[in-house]
Amino acid sequence: MADMAGGGAMKSDDNVKRPHIVVIGAGFAGLNFCKSFPGDMARITVLDRQNHHLFQPLLYRVATAGLSAVDIAQPIRAILNRKPNLEVLMTEVTGIGLGTRTIRHATGRLSYDYLVLGLGGVTGYFGHDEWARFAPGLKTLDDALLIRRRILRAFEQAETESDTAQRQALMMIVVVGGGPTGVELSGAIAELAKVALARDFRRIDPRQARIILLEGGPRVLATFPEALSIHAQRALEKLGVEVNTVARVTRCDNEGVIVNDQRLPAGTVIWAAGVAASLAAQWVGAAGDRAGRAQVEADLSVPGKPEIFIVGDTAAVTNVDGSPVPGIAPAAKQAGRYVAQVIAAAVQGTPRPAPFRYRHYGNLATIGRHEAVIDFGRFTLSGGLAWWVWGIAHVYFLIGMRHRFLVAAQWMFSYLTFGRGARLIAGSEGDVRIRPKDVAPMR
Ligand SMILES: Cc1cc2nc3c(=O)[nH]c(=O)nc-3n(C[C@H](O)[C@H](O)[C@H](O)COP(=O)(O)OP(=O)(O)OC[C@H]3O[C@@H](n4cnc5c(N)ncnc54)[C@H](O)[C@@H]3O)c2cc1C
Repeated sequence: MADMAGGGAMKSDDNVKRPHIVVIGAGFAGLNFCKSFPGDMARITVLDRQNHHLFQPLLYRVATAGLSAVDIAQPIRAILNRKPNLEVLMTEVTGIGLGTRTIRHATGRLSYDYLVLGLGGVTGYFGHDEWARFAPGLKTLDDALLIRRRILRAFEQAETESDTAQRQALMMIVVVGGGPTGVELSGAIAELAKVALARDFRRIDPRQARIILLEGGPRVLATFPEALSIHAQRALEKLGVEVNTVARVTRCDNEGVIVNDQRLPAGTVIWAAGVAASLAAQWVGAAGDRAGRAQVEADLSVPGKPEIFIVGDTAAVTNVDGSPVPGIAPAAKQAGRYVAQVIAAAVQGTPRPAPFRYRHYGNLATIGRHEAVIDFGRFTLSGGLAWWVWGIAHVYFLIGMRHRFLVAAQWMFSYLTFGRGARLIAGSEGDVRIRPKDVAPMR
């Protein structure tokens, strides 16, 4: 195990004098920390297990063949290459030695003066991790490509399947969870199946595919005002999605799901129902909330450890007005930028900035090709205009002109033609076939 105490390759006398900041995770929070940390008063080492920063809000478009992986991800090195005092290491962090102020990663250790933890979250299965095999969540590019492969392969299998029940099962896609991710996914899958694929097959009619959205609560988009939930449900139903609320899933397996004691034989099941935090809270010994997110001080530091900060989806933060800060990209970005100010003040010996104050700009969700709902707090927006606002905001927040141009061009293309260019099946990792003989009829 290589000991890279103090940052390894970047060592020089000057470097050794400057404090060393280790940032774990180059998501929205970690990246915004790095971009806004002023000057070169500290050395910064960023560790991420992926080599890319991912724009998660558009993952559902990759999973439904509307965008390619490269359109929504960018190498972390390329984003941060103008910062000479910063280095990037692609490695998985496995723990923290609090006494020695070191972090452990897959190939070594690294000591820190300040530590910023922005590890994001993972898909949560409410204690049923064994369901993950059958019902992948949507958090990473690998997840999106797996989901795309499963959906497209199910249609290919259905085209060659002679048994009617089995064919129907293959053409059933169940999305579990009616939050923004589930709503966006099911709307996009309905358009993929019922419009984009409609003319491509000869033996099956993809328009007969059943796309079923299961929500455990009484309405979809539970964090939005009720009127927007109703609007979203109607818009989904118009696209052909069957929306089932108060639907409790008790099993996911290679035959589909069991919901409210009824078997739904589905060729593809996607899990959009739960998010759990990373292990960071356990690593630093902080109290966690129900989702495992670490409770932090008003300056986002860990209680009793003023040199360690937790940002983004990994932290449970209460805003100055007492409301919980949501787990969304703008909150993560603001937290990253805020902690850069706090550490810079500590390094310079100036007073600590005022407590973290999150500014909420709104909640957005899109439904299909030209419907969206937006809750700005003081007023709401729905329909075509909301879709344009949603689209412009998402293109604007992508990193790099190339990505903005590519995504906008592909959106225009699919807006005008309903086309989906990224309909390739590649690889086979994580494939699960439903078993023909075991498919039970719908009760
Ligand atoms: C499908 C989906 C759709 C979403 N849609 C929206 C939306 O429309 N609008 C919105 O505002 N928000 C949306 N969000 C939420 C938003 O993406 C998150 O709130 C945001 O990404 C959180 O940023 P973060 O920096 O905390 O974590 P992330 O962006 O998740 O980044 C965490 C980073 O840590 C790295 N990492 C994790 N563990 C380790 C480890 N052990 N070692 C090394 N590196 C590690 C990961 O590789 C990753 O790069 C969506 C999320 C998902 C999953």
